Amino acid sequence: MPEAPRSPTRIKFWGVRGSIPVPGDATVRYGGNTTCVEVRADGEIIVLDAGTGIRPLGLALQKELSAEPIKVTLLITHAHWDHIHGLPFFVPAQENKNQLTLYGPDSAEAGLRQILEGQMSVPFFPVALHDLAGKIDIHKLEPPDFNLGKVRVRSARVNHPGSCVGYRLLTSRGSIAFLPDHEPYDFLHSARAVSANRPDTAKRAEEERAALVAFLEACDVLILDAQYTNDEYKNRVSWGHGSLGSAIALARDARVRKLVLFHHDPTHDDAKIDNMLKEARELAEKTGQSLEVEAAREGAELAL
Ligand SMILES: [Zn+2]
Ligand SMILES: [Zn+2]
Repeated sequence: MPEAPRSPTRIKFWGVRGSIPVPGDATVRYGGNTTCVEVRADGEIIVLDAGTGIRPLGLALQKELSAEPIKVTLLITHAHWDHIHGLPFFVPAQENKNQLTLYGPDSAEAGLRQILEGQMSVPFFPVALHDLAGKIDIHKLEPPDFNLGKVRVRSARVNHPGSCVGYRLLTSRGSIAFLPDHEPYDFLHSARAVSANRPDTAKRAEEERAALVAFLEACDVLILDAQYTNDEYKNRVSWGHGSLGSAIALARDARVRKLVLFHHDPTHDDAKIDNMLKEARELAEKTGQSLEVEAAREGAELAL
């Protein structure tokens, strides 16, 4: 018997913006919602981060699946607002037929559950997380690698203030890496608590970068923080985000097939992102490797 054809792995961008939503005429093409990406692979619905893009995703899932139970796994990279502030408005969580399973790292100050319950407590929000009718399971990201059905999920620490991870999803049709917030290792966040001038800092930065390159090795799609132009980054060192140059260099070293520029700066309008994409493609060309580059756009889909 020939094997049944496997359905493609699909990626859909519901929120591509960093920091804060910026709706309006200036962002109408790339979109104003904060971080949220949907992946459909091997029968699973996997959602990456819960910025405001998760609200329209929830409405779309309700429309598509109507009376059927909606079963979603939500992988959270970290608890900065722009990655969790859409969760209270994810309407499938309000129905008892639906199941939402969350994974994410604890922060040094509080566990993931405490953080998510905190943003849904008085006086910040009128409805508590545990009052939602849907079945909601929250898991600390431990161990860092696990399976969701046939999809293998890997996670790795990235270079960003606080506890922040990136994910790599290995599906039957290829792999996707998601690093929405990540700064190049020239500024090492994990060295902040000690002294950035310690002699071993440069060595640690090199080791951490090498580990991340290995984590991303040969992935098909890398969705990566490219918030700043190279010039802007010079005045934003230590803010936790990447530049076009650092994004291209990481994708090149990890031999990524397609790089998707992500976590667009709230001050960047559509024309600015067009220009950044053009510049990133020129930088990619100079690497001499075959590296496709796209800029994440709300509503856009990719298939593997
Ligand atoms: Zn962010
Ligand atoms: Zn962040």
